[in-house]
Amino acid sequence: MTIDHRFLLAGVIGWPIMHSRSPLMHNHWLEENHLNGRYVPLAVEPAKLERAIRGLNPLGFFGVNVTIPHKQNVMQYLDEIDPTALAMGAVSCIHAREDGSLFGKNNDAQGFIRNIKAQSLQWRADAGPITVIGAGGGARAVCYGLIQEGATEIRLVNRHIEKAQGLADQFGSFIKPVAWSERHTALQGAKMLVNATSLGMVGQPALDLELNDLPKDALVADIIYAPLETELIKHAKLRGNQAVGGLGMLMHQGPLAWELWFGITPSVTPKLQALLEKSLQG
Ligand code: NAP
Repeated sequence: MTIDHRFLLAGVIGWPIMHSRSPLMHNHWLEENHLNGRYVPLAVEPAKLERAIRGLNPLGFFGVNVTIPHKQNVMQYLDEIDPTALAMGAVSCIHAREDGSLFGKNNDAQGFIRNIKAQSLQWRADAGPITVIGAGGGARAVCYGLIQEGATEIRLVNRHIEKAQGLADQFGSFIKPVAWSERHTALQGAKMLVNATSLGMVGQPALDLELNDLPKDALVADIIYAPLETELIKHAKLRGNQAVGGLGMLMHQGPLAWELWFGITPSVTPKLQALLEKSLQG
């Protein structure tokens, strides 16, 4: 990939999109690396997705990230999809290649795992049972990443248990579906708890989960990053659990996209984190 004489154009496609912190992060990296380019928010309504995707190459985009609600639908317009994205049934990043073709990847799982490893050096996926709450797109990436890392038992709690069962059917017997009513006791003996629902996010009610049964040495992770600290993270910290918010998952996906588009690995630094945190606090 040659980037010498090209304006480095990339973006994020979603609907709505203006809440996304991805432009702030990627434009920070463009500046930090003294590169001539721009990362733009692209508000694309579902009915216009195909036209938008087909326009990426003619417009000179190197690629885009893909967010809600397009991660599944976009797959039909791509020329090639990597096996991880196929297994997850969703694409989070598209590379508009120089030959005019479109390649799709999913960086969500790796972003999640990289963040956990960066924040908890001792963490191991095979240390014991893991309880994951939620069975939507985020949970799918979390479970995929955990299984790749060697998780042997994932207790998957979801309001609509058939979605948890669907994930178990696809990903295998490591996933044990658990009814929503059993979520509190599903924490017994767990080494890790992950909230992958949208509960706790700005504008949503908090996740209703009693932590009494959760061992104090369990790692608690939330993939939500707005707010920076959900009620779950606050509560977990108060009772002495190590707790990791979702901002790092977003940050650790960025370099994977850059490697694909530009062949450059930007750094996830405290300065970037502070920039994003300030924006989220504002
Ligand atoms: P999604 O596919 O719509 O899934 C939403 C999940 O939340 C489902 O499991 C759903 O359960 C559950 N849920 C929603 N309302 C509920 C309620 N009232 N009671 C019980 N369960 C409820 O969404 P997603 O894409 O997975 O995203 C989930 C969250 O993760 C969002 O806040 C998103 O911003 C965040 N996220 C963060 C990152 C990151 O990089 N940090 C990446 C991806 C997602 P049902 O299946 O029963 O409806």
